Amino acid sequence: MTLHQYVRKGSFYEAVVEDGSDLIFVVDYKGNIAYHNASVRNTLGYRSRSLVGKGFFDFVLPETVDALKQQFRKSQKKAFTENIEFQFLASDRSFRFLEFNAINLKHRENLEGFILDCRDITDRKRNAEELLRLQKAKEQFLANISHEIRTPINGIAGMADLLGQPTSPEERNTYLNAIKHSAENLKVIINDILDLAAIESGKLRLEKIAFNLNDLVPALVGTFAYQAKEKKLRLDYSIDAKLNRLLLGDPVRLNQILINLIGNAIKFTHKGSIKVSCSLERKQKDTWWIRFEVIDTGIGIPAEKTDTIFESFSQADETFTRKYGGSGLGLTIVKQLVELQNGQITVQSSEDKGSTFAVIVPYQTGKPSHLSSQQTTKHPGSEPGSELRILLVEDNDINRLYAGSILNKWRCQVDTAENGLVAVEKMKNNYYDLILMDVQMRVMDGYEATKAIRLLDEPKNRIPIIALTANATSRDVEKCLQAGMNDYLAKPFTPDDLKAKIMKDSGKGTAQPGIDAFADNKSSFDLTYLRNISNNNEEFIRDMMQTFAQTIPPILNDMEKAMQTKDWERLGKLAHQIKPSFMLLGIAHLRSAILFIEENGNEEKNLPE
Ligand code: ADP
Repeated sequence: MTLHQYVRKGSFYEAVVEDGSDLIFVVDYKGNIAYHNASVRNTLGYRSRSLVGKGFFDFVLPETVDALKQQFRKSQKKAFTENIEFQFLASDRSFRFLEFNAINLKHRENLEGFILDCRDITDRKRNAEELLRLQKAKEQFLANISHEIRTPINGIAGMADLLGQPTSPEERNTYLNAIKHSAENLKVIINDILDLAAIESGKLRLEKIAFNLNDLVPALVGTFAYQAKEKKLRLDYSIDAKLNRLLLGDPVRLNQILINLIGNAIKFTHKGSIKVSCSLERKQKDTWWIRFEVIDTGIGIPAEKTDTIFESFSQADETFTRKYGGSGLGLTIVKQLVELQNGQITVQSSEDKGSTFAVIVPYQTGKPSHLSSQQTTKHPGSEPGSELRILLVEDNDINRLYAGSILNKWRCQVDTAENGLVAVEKMKNNYYDLILMDVQMRVMDGYEATKAIRLLDEPKNRIPIIALTANATSRDVEKCLQAGMNDYLAKPFTPDDLKAKIMKDSGKGTAQPGIDAFADNKSSFDLTYLRNISNNNEEFIRDMMQTFAQTIPPILNDMEKAMQTKDWERLGKLAHQIKPSFMLLGIAHLRSAILFIEENGNEEKNLPE
């Protein structure tokens, strides 16, 4: 058969009409179905010809039948009608969205009927509805967020106004506290927005740090104790005994996830309890899947909202006069953080009974060797700046790259942290000789990080910290020093500026040893000697450092007393007593000072006062 014969025979009509993708009905003006094609089966699930003889309107969504009959009447007057939407019952009892073009047979064949050529537009409709819902959620978000931002700003402006007028000291305090509180709120919201932007632009880097849940969870839960007590809620945690080990992952992000979930649990619970539980979900070679649950007895979440609460900008309660504050970004950030770590988050909730948020995250199991390999790799060398282990804490990518590349050129061992919290975690698990600390950072700034590091165990708490600050007014510098930093470097700095500071503060440079050096909190030590004699035994070295940290301060106190009473002989003896410990730990920059005191003390010469 040639193509012409095929066309003449009309078989292609069948191919197009019977088996084409469109649904085709032939109906009379009253809606009685005279024919439908086989596609009805694919789209609506009805067998071939099974609708013939039935009424078209009996399948149409009842509340729209009248409107569709009206359309039929209008179409009778025209040869062709386009794009009429309606909903048709499928064999699975669901309604599909269809759209027809009607060819009026009156005009062609003088018959009272239509050919209805229908397309399934269910997906298009659903997408449009979804788009509309997202659009609405976004508008709602903007309304909420501007409210959330405006409230603390108004608070700050109002309180500042009041502070400008004559006030009593008590009032002053109240206003100042209100300003601080508002600023904190503002910080949370802005951090949320920035965090989400960082995650969505793919900029967020995950750390691989060793941590133990037995350190992290109690400390974290502890920070909510006050809030829970104020609301008279019981707040407990439990950690499966098996989990008392090192895990490798990002403890800062885990903190962030749990802070959000526990914060929400407290916010949305008015009586009863909140429980945080950590258990082992499953093991897969070196990967442990940890299950974290935050269980509350709060207001719960309506079933239809349990999916949408994880979306940006969405809250279960969307009314304008929302009872609970919040940007609606918390859970979005949590979900993204969990998924970035290849984990999952789920929620089970029933209204007025409570909610359980469950997060499962895989962690590599940490081995002590992972830590010690970082701790023992290099020893501070004798060249200025070289082979120093430096922690560079900086949240700006460009600044980090700049300082990092200078330090690398000097063959320093550089580790980086993108904010204060990461820095504190890294300090707990690694040894560094010096920290370069940006001051203004999100999540935790340089002041807070320094204070936290100064609270770590000896000798880590004595690490020299140099502030990298863009505002080097005397007040800023004062604030850095008050927070416990040793020195500061104004940004932008040249490589020479940086070198001078590092040499001074790491004790590798020209710092003049003298009496002042004792009052100076700089800790620069070289463990090469201890490493050599102990064959690199970390435990031995740590013991030595601990002994040093415990025994030396009382002797220094005695030395101070001896100085006050001008008891030079005793001062010299005490210097003699501490000398070997300082030599053992390679605290070279104090060597000449100790010798000076020892010798002058022995000769009973007066030291400069
Ligand atoms: P928000 O800043 O509004 O708290 P989230 O993203 O953290 O934003 O939470 C989104 C919504 O999910 C909340 O507004 C609330 O309606 C609901 N929700 C979250 N956690 C809980 C919970 N523990 N109990 C009840 N509802 C919750």
